Amino acid sequence: MKMAIFGLARSGMSALKHQSSQGRYECYAVNRGTPKSWESYEQICKLIDPANCVDEEEAVDLMGEMDLIVKSPGIAYTHPALVKARANKVEIISEIEYAYRHSDIPVVAVTGTNGKTTTATMINELLEMLGKKVFLGGNIGIPYSEVLLSYESYDWAVIEVSSFQLENIKSFKPRLAILTNISPSHGERYDSHELYRDAKLKLFQNMNEDDTAIVPRSFYSLNLPCNKKSIKALDQFDFSKSKLVGEHNKENLYCAYVCAQEIIEDKELVDSTVQKYIDNFGGVEYRIQFIRSTPTLDIYNDGKSTNMASTLAAVDSFEDRKLHLILGGKLRDRTMDFSELVNRDIESVYAFGDSKDFVREKLNGHFSVSTHSTMEELFEALKSDELDGVLLFSPAFPSFDLFKNYEHRAKRFNELAKEL
Ligand code: ADP
Repeated sequence: MKMAIFGLARSGMSALKHQSSQGRYECYAVNRGTPKSWESYEQICKLIDPANCVDEEEAVDLMGEMDLIVKSPGIAYTHPALVKARANKVEIISEIEYAYRHSDIPVVAVTGTNGKTTTATMINELLEMLGKKVFLGGNIGIPYSEVLLSYESYDWAVIEVSSFQLENIKSFKPRLAILTNISPSHGERYDSHELYRDAKLKLFQNMNEDDTAIVPRSFYSLNLPCNKKSIKALDQFDFSKSKLVGEHNKENLYCAYVCAQEIIEDKELVDSTVQKYIDNFGGVEYRIQFIRSTPTLDIYNDGKSTNMASTLAAVDSFEDRKLHLILGGKLRDRTMDFSELVNRDIESVYAFGDSKDFVREKLNGHFSVSTHSTMEELFEALKSDELDGVLLFSPAFPSFDLFKNYEHRAKRFNELAKEL
């Protein structure tokens, strides 16, 4: 039997490590560029026969001969090698499905356009406070397949799943599954909003009456094969001591609360632990994270925002404050909708990077907008503008015009903010 790992970033590497220790299949590795140029080539050669390392062109014929392909989320379904494999009825699965087939740890899965990492982090922290040993992985950083390589014995796996990873699941069946929300994003990969939504709904397909789905209110009427709870803000607790910002975060926390209630029998313990959690919440990095105050200005970093929906949620978190908003990044879709943002109460907008002129075009006449080529230039302007109120960095665009990734961008913001 032959199996290929298609795409050898972190999740592919974890699956390859696991499979090569199983010896059930003859393993192949497929990646972009000549094998010798692969970053992990040497490591891969220790796991499988170097002759089984192939580039994408060579893979086109070879993939038709496989029995199983584990596909990385970054590889499009329309890749010629996968088209060939499908024509030959080769089974193609995602790394999420692969890990699920080999693990017997019950799963809490989190998907959605925004709030996945925040919600998965909250569930993990809350369950650990309640004494559970949790593996936190998936899209959030550590591949799900790492759980197969670990010697720890976990009670639960909390897995953040992107819609790309959901494309090729088959038997993946979470005990609890959360869809935080759905809004336009990833326009470059899905032809329609319906397709994007359908990809997300695959999360629930194998669940049954013993399982629970936590979904946005607009999804509650959908026919799902399991129990349903619709998301609302968690209001029955005292937030007076909390650093938690925004209604959307109360919704994220509600999802974590429901998970804890479903998993832990002692409901009073859950309630008192949630209150403790709220009181001590320190924020999630780069998600409306409080950075510092100058004598006149409170600075927040929401650098993870790469779409309009998350920026709107961030703006709404400061409704009663005088708000200065920093937007900008790679312009990926000129149909991006600014109609809601223009109705918000914003004192001034600073736009930078590739999308700066587009932002000005959209917001001129509504707010005072200044444009800057780089973040550094923008900070020079901030220094002379002497603002007061809240300075919120919630870019709404992807980072790859000027930065390697959103973390790189958010980190640079923090460096510059320290000097303000
Ligand atoms: P994801 O992992 O889905 O990208 P994150 O938790 O990393 O989500 O947050 C991404 C962005 O979305 C941040 O700007 C954050 O402030 C915002 N956000 C978090 N939760 C929500 C939510 N429930 N609704 C809308 N935006 C949210």
